[in-house]
Amino acid sequence: MEFDGKRVLITGGSRGIGRACAMAFAEHGAVVAVNYRTGAAAAEEVLAALPGEDHVALQADVSEPQAVEGLVASVVEALGGLDIVVNNAGIFIDHVVEDVGFDEWQAAWDRVLKTNLVGPANLCFCAAKHMIGHGGGKIVNISSRGAFRGEPDGPAYGASKAGLNALSQSLARRLAPHDITVGAVAPGFVDTEMARRYQGTDMWDDITSQSPFGRIAKPEEVAAAVLFLASENAKFSSGAIIDVNGASYLRT
Ligand code: NAP
Repeated sequence: MEFDGKRVLITGGSRGIGRACAMAFAEHGAVVAVNYRTGAAAAEEVLAALPGEDHVALQADVSEPQAVEGLVASVVEALGGLDIVVNNAGIFIDHVVEDVGFDEWQAAWDRVLKTNLVGPANLCFCAAKHMIGHGGGKIVNISSRGAFRGEPDGPAYGASKAGLNALSQSLARRLAPHDITVGAVAPGFVDTEMARRYQGTDMWDDITSQSPFGRIAKPEEVAAAVLFLASENAKFSSGAIIDVNGASYLRT
C-alpha cells in the first residue's frame, strides 16, 4: 500500500485512532492534514512526529457545518488538493435512560448526532464535491461495533454509528461512477482516551475479556484497516464495513 504524495485529511487526528492513522499514512508517503477541535498542542505534537514534509494541523469543529466547509477549502489550499478523507472524529456521551432527564437525553442526542453523523455527512459532501472532477478519491468512515451490538449506555452513539454505516453504503453506490470509494471500519474497544475512561472501574475486566485474544485493540490495528480501504487495491471493497473487534462480536 503506497500513498506517495496522496493528500489525506483526518478529522480528530490529534490523538487516539486519528493519530495512528496520521502516522501510518505519513509512513507510507502521504501528506497529512491533521484536524483537531481543541487539542492544538496535541496536533502540533503529531505534526512533529510525522515522517515526511508539508503536513499541516487545522482546527475545525466537525459538528459545525460552516467549519466543515472551511476545513475542506483550507486543506485544498494548504495541500493543493484532497485525495483521501478519514472521518474519525467522534464522541461518546453516557445518557442512560434510567439516570437522565428529558433535557439531558435530548442534549446527548443533539451533540452526538451532530458530531458523529451529520459532521461526517457534511464532510463527505464537501470532499466529494472537490473529488468529482479532480480524479476521484477515497473516503473512510470510523464506525463502531456498537452500531451492530447496541450501546445501552449511549444509544445516540450506537445510532450515530449505524447511521454512519448506512451513509457510507449509500455514498459508495452514489459516488462510484466518479471513482470515489467509501468504506467504514468498525472497531470494538480500542486503547485510546475514549476507552481508558473505564480503566480502574469494575467494567475494565469485562472490557478486556470481550475478545478471545484477552485484550482491546491497538489504534494501529484500526489504522491498518483504514489504509487498506483507502488503497487502490481496495476499490472493489467500496461499501464494505471492516470489523476490528478481535472476534468479540461476529456478524454475518
Ligand atoms: P479519542 O481518543 O477520544 O479522540 C477523539 C478525537 O476526535 C480527538 O482528536 C478529538 O479532538 C476529536 N474530536 C472530537 N470531537 C470533535 C469535533 N467536534 N471536531 C473535530 N474533532 C473532534 O477517540 P478515539 O478512541 O481515537 O476515537 C476515534 C474514532 O473511533 C471515533 O469516531 C470513535 O467513535 C471511534 N471508535 C472508538 C473506539 C474506542 O474504543 N476508542 C471504539 C469504536 C469506535 P480534540 O481533542 O481536539 O477535541
